Amino acid sequence: MDIIPDPRIQPLEPEWYQPFVQEVSMLRLDEVHPVVSGNKWYKLKHNIKDATEEDYNTMLTFGGGYSNHLVATAAAAKAFGLGSIGIVRGVYDTLTPTLQLCLEFGMQLEFVSQEEYKQKEDQAWLQQLSAKYGKVFIVPEGGANERGREGAAEITGFIPATYSHVCVSIGTGTTFEGICTALLSNQQILGYVPMKGGRYLQDEIGKNVPPSDNWRLFDEWHFGGFGKVNSELITFMNGFYSINHIPLDMVYTAKMMYGVQAQIRNQFFPPGGRILCVHTGGLQGNTSIADRLIY
Ligand SMILES: *Cc1c(COP(=O)(O)O)cnc(C)c1O
Repeated sequence: MDIIPDPRIQPLEPEWYQPFVQEVSMLRLDEVHPVVSGNKWYKLKHNIKDATEEDYNTMLTFGGGYSNHLVATAAAAKAFGLGSIGIVRGVYDTLTPTLQLCLEFGMQLEFVSQEEYKQKEDQAWLQQLSAKYGKVFIVPEGGANERGREGAAEITGFIPATYSHVCVSIGTGTTFEGICTALLSNQQILGYVPMKGGRYLQDEIGKNVPPSDNWRLFDEWHFGGFGKVNSELITFMNGFYSINHIPLDMVYTAKMMYGVQAQIRNQFFPPGGRILCVHTGGLQGNTSIADRLIY
């Protein structure tokens, strides 16, 4: 039931990482679909499969006004002839570009207060939503469920054994967990957390993948918090594009690649390291800084 082609691996230009490591490449999940881009389709595919097999005709999920998951759900549901409902955190006077796109894909939006949104995993509230909307297939925020992890594990199928390190940006950690469970034991996976104080994710992720020396998180490259940018990050994004011709998104992959470059320069990686960075997409989220980017 794949609606997307296999992603390609694009080597970065040696001037970006020499002389410190052997190779740095990106797995271009961002190219596989214009809207259901990056990691999102993998997390959704088994959920959508279950929904269609179990005769649901509507998907319901959760997200903020800039959520790539929300718009990916709207587009993927539509592609499979399903409707979608998005429960949005907070009330918006004007819709964000992301929410506008959700509407274009036929998603029905319901805005709830930050307070109410906190019940997103509360069974009683989920039952109330089901009672209100009828037979809806509920996917948790960020596609963070077992079926999401199973789909994310399929990304590992695109990662050759020759890579020593795999770098992934973290939101809920579902993509990281999925890839982690399917990686070879001699490959290391590093997670880059784009929010302030994201260390708690170490314990959250530890519930789904057993703690081991093969995986680690880094949270120092948050640039002030989730969704925050400064001119240093924007300069980095433009510089990265000039050299490698790869657009990064401001929320996740730019912060990850900034961290990876800092680690390369600090010789965190062994000289023989072959590093594969997963481009998880999210480029539609650059709209707010579009006039400051060269791409
Ligand atoms: C959603 C998203 C992530 C985070 O994925 P999780 O599986 O929730 O950790 C990373 N990068 C981009 C671009 C995303 O849109």
